[in-house]
Amino acid sequence: MKPAVLVTAGPTRERIDPIRFISNYSTGSFGYAIAAEAKRRECRVVLVSGPTHLEAPRGVKRVMVESALDMKQAVEREFKRCGIVIMAAAVSDWRARKAAGKKIKRGASVKTLELVENPDILAGLGKRKGGKVIVGFALETDSLAKNALGKLRKKNLDMIVANTVTRKKGAFGSGRTSVVMFDKFNGKNAYNNRTKRELAKIILDKALALNIGYGIC
Ligand code: C5P
Repeated sequence: MKPAVLVTAGPTRERIDPIRFISNYSTGSFGYAIAAEAKRRECRVVLVSGPTHLEAPRGVKRVMVESALDMKQAVEREFKRCGIVIMAAAVSDWRARKAAGKKIKRGASVKTLELVENPDILAGLGKRKGGKVIVGFALETDSLAKNALGKLRKKNLDMIVANTVTRKKGAFGSGRTSVVMFDKFNGKNAYNNRTKRELAKIILDKALALNIGYGIC
């Protein structure tokens, strides 16, 4: 039997007031390509998505969320029913300590935004992964291998897909990208200038192979 696949995609938005938020440049395109590819392989697919204009791939159950806390809740609800989790979302690491209920007016006395850390959704799943295959993403500006391998171990992942953001051309949104995939068996594979669809196929091949390795397929 094919395992059910849970994919997260897109940015999260952390409210400052009803009009403003903290977010990032993620478009969700990588996660959506992975969800579409998993569906093509006839897996049951749940896509937990932050705000994006992308259309849901056909046949995929999509759950739209806004903030990191919303995403955590949705992911944890679906986690028990899936065999493979692929966390491609660019989750905001911080949120405002207190979002204002009304628009903060120009000239308001408070000029500093107090932030608190969001929970690390992926690390939480890694603590109770059981026989599931968990794949994370890492976007780094420097020390790619060191940082990605650190996250692979710290978050108890089976695999991590790492790419670099360059100042000229970020990894976000571009149709093609270069990544390095590290797995927990010390495997390392670099893929240069590939489409996200090509990379989605490779990620699914690897995740499904790891899933068979666990003997729950
Ligand atoms: O630690 P860092 O944010 O670089 O890790 C990236 C990986 O962790 C991605 O797979 C991302 O989806 C996930 N993540 C998460 N919860 C957070 C931050 C990141 O699940 N609060």
